[in-house]
Amino acid sequence: MNDGCNYYEVLNCIPTSSFEELKRNYKSLVLQYHPDKCFTAPSEVYMQIDKAWKTLSDPELRSRYDEHLRQQAAYSSYVIYDTLSMDDMTCDPELKRYTYSCRCGGSYTIDECELQFGDTIVPCEDCSLAIVIKTLLLPSER
Ligand SMILES: [Zn+2]
Repeated sequence: MNDGCNYYEVLNCIPTSSFEELKRNYKSLVLQYHPDKCFTAPSEVYMQIDKAWKTLSDPELRSRYDEHLRQQAAYSSYVIYDTLSMDDMTCDPELKRYTYSCRCGGSYTIDECELQFGDTIVPCEDCSLAIVIKTLLLPSER
């Protein structure tokens, strides 16, 4: 999904842009870059615009794409120390809390209710490292 190009940037928009704004920009870009009208711009540019529009004009694809961007942003702001599964964590059944020791001596702590489906990023309490927990199943208590 990540081809190094942000769809919002392709359409000269920002993630909070409305559907109408996206549509307007898409239309004007198509006029500019459509291969039938513009022989100087490479058709990849048009294909990018088309792909961006197809994703962002669909509410479901757009929300999935937004989630993907958020995750990327989260990843880039942390130094990922390790990727773990739930089984690697120490579970406190009473508190429904999972912990893991960081190499700095601090610890990663997450409550069961904070776990997200897919990847959950847990920052260390004492340093700038973070771990990624792969969550395959939603916590049962949700
Ligand atoms: Zn640490």
